[in-house]
Amino acid sequence: MKTATLTDAHTVEISDRERPEPAPDELLVAINACGVCTTDLHMYSGNLTVDYPMIPGHESAGEVVSVGENVDDYEEGDRVAINPSVPCNECRACKSGRENLCHDLTSIGGAAKNIIDGAFAEYAAVPAGNVEAIGDLDYRTASLAEPLGCVINGIDQVDLTSGETVVVVGGGFIGQLIVQTLRTSGAGTIVLSEPVAERRKLGVELGADYAVDPTESDPTEAVSELIGDVDIAIEAVGLPKTIQQAHSLTGPGGRTLVFGVPPEDATIELSPFDLFFEEREVVGSYSLTPKTFARAVTLLQNDRIDVDSLVTDEFDLDGLETAFEQMEAREGLKKVVYPAQ
Ligand SMILES: [Zn+2]
Ligand SMILES: [Zn+2]
Repeated sequence: MKTATLTDAHTVEISDRERPEPAPDELLVAINACGVCTTDLHMYSGNLTVDYPMIPGHESAGEVVSVGENVDDYEEGDRVAINPSVPCNECRACKSGRENLCHDLTSIGGAAKNIIDGAFAEYAAVPAGNVEAIGDLDYRTASLAEPLGCVINGIDQVDLTSGETVVVVGGGFIGQLIVQTLRTSGAGTIVLSEPVAERRKLGVELGADYAVDPTESDPTEAVSELIGDVDIAIEAVGLPKTIQQAHSLTGPGGRTLVFGVPPEDATIELSPFDLFFEEREVVGSYSLTPKTFARAVTLLQNDRIDVDSLVTDEFDLDGLETAFEQMEAREGLKKVVYPAQ
């Protein structure tokens, strides 16, 4: 089978490998679509330490082509989305339903304590417990189940109540996905803060009520002029400055979600008095759980997310490196690779 393997930083090799056999509890899936994530880019550029050679790709969907002997729930020809997070199911976090915080998490091609081969390959062998049936949903749409599962987990962390006001800081692919998910989850007024005009326009098309340019005016003033106090601020950039900004937008009872991946050594200034006196919260969210993955598939099956507006570039496996180069140049939004064709 054909694979796109990272053999070193900035090096993708298209190579031929033996097709894996599914273990007794696994399925072999022909990978029909796999989204390219910033995590893949960090592995490619060397910003995230991984052991080369490795096959990245953790946002995938495809067709079951072979079934392990102990698997009863799936058969050849089933169409599935793959959840890349394989929890141990034994630790305290797993047992409390927070599998994303598993102490011994394995990821199929994503970032985790243990990393196994991912989905930038014609086939991947995956635990049967890690797939969701997608019915007749197209594979490209189904490949968004992973990032959407992460977004749902994030929104769960800030306890959105219908009608609440939300600001999303950052209008890249994830920011746009957050705007749409907030809209379908009952948010009241949604404001997107984003410097690129094209992305502000898209955000409004996808469900934001207002979009502000943080380079033109101080978003703290612009947002409070528009909607007053903010109940929830979601940071989808991953920079200390924008996290601080998001937090400063919230009013009494406000919650700030750190969704973007910040640098490991970054720090921010917080007033503990404000947290105390105004019951404001700063929370984070990491990855997804089996439950939020299943909920993501349901939202996609019910057409709650406009995928056409989010996927800007499509490639076969040979094009993965071009996809990375475009991401480094900050061109477009979501890139999707079609390995099995
Ligand atoms: Zn991802
Ligand atoms: Zn665990």
